[in-house]
Amino acid sequence: MPREVEVKSILNKTKKRDSWFLDDYSVNLYSSCSFNCLYCYIRGSKYGSNLEESLSIKTNAIELLDKQLSNRAKKGQYGIIVLSSATDPYLQIEKRYELTRKALEVILKHRFPVHIITKSNLIERDFDLLNKINEKAILPEDLQTSLGRGAIISFSFSTLDDKVARIFEPGAPPPSERLKSLERSLKQDFLSGVSLMPLLPFISDTKEHLNVLFSTFSQLKADYVLPATITLFGDSKADSKTLVLNAIRKHYPHLEKKYLNYFAQGSEMPFYYRDAFYKKMQELLKQYELSNSILEAAEQKKKRPNK
Ligand code: SF4
Repeated sequence: MPREVEVKSILNKTKKRDSWFLDDYSVNLYSSCSFNCLYCYIRGSKYGSNLEESLSIKTNAIELLDKQLSNRAKKGQYGIIVLSSATDPYLQIEKRYELTRKALEVILKHRFPVHIITKSNLIERDFDLLNKINEKAILPEDLQTSLGRGAIISFSFSTLDDKVARIFEPGAPPPSERLKSLERSLKQDFLSGVSLMPLLPFISDTKEHLNVLFSTFSQLKADYVLPATITLFGDSKADSKTLVLNAIRKHYPHLEKKYLNYFAQGSEMPFYYRDAFYKKMQELLKQYELSNSILEAAEQKKKRPNK
């Protein structure tokens, strides 16, 4: 059973909007995450090695969100709310607690725009509310012309292979299900694309896998693809670096030496790898005619509304 906690604040104002995710605010209705991805950056001693066991529900979240958004709306401080930055908004328990659905009702009431980032097809339950937010949200002044809509939906992938995902994202719905939701989201004409974070070195960043990924997203006509390399932290048993290295040792022993070499010095892949990675991503984006900017994708979508 997840714990129930009360929090003092639920709406976090970001210092500066990130140019990829366009977050002016973030909201995390749950603490920790039952999708339990081994590479997750929230991992560490605070949550323990099984994120599902430390999962908690913020019971006063909706009431607080209503108050905080009302105050921001009175001051005209409209901005994009990212759901979520440190958990998934559509965890298994969302079916029972409906915190995300209730939060979207409050967001619609105060007319804020949202960016949903998820690994779950449960999001389809809320397409009705997201359609209303899409039409009614008041955008921050500098995004009114470029974005022109109130809902952005990103599906997060590290692989398209369900078997690989079972190792690295053991609690999340399989990528094959996510793909179907991405397709349905695009059919509903949401501004919708892919957060390809993180790609797994020598597993999902191989030439073959990258071609499968990009050709699949291109065929579905995803509005954007945002790719990034992996970052792994910490040496304690609950940290992402330890958990990913354990999984590599168990399932990909031939890659163990490479991973140990790469992550011996720190949390990021070496500069030459990252440099080659981003060059390769630019080539693939061009080859498959995909954008890696949500704003650029929004502009393109406006020019061809019935894609
Ligand atoms: S879904 Fe996101 S927040 Fe949840 S464990 Fe995976 S990476 Fe972390």
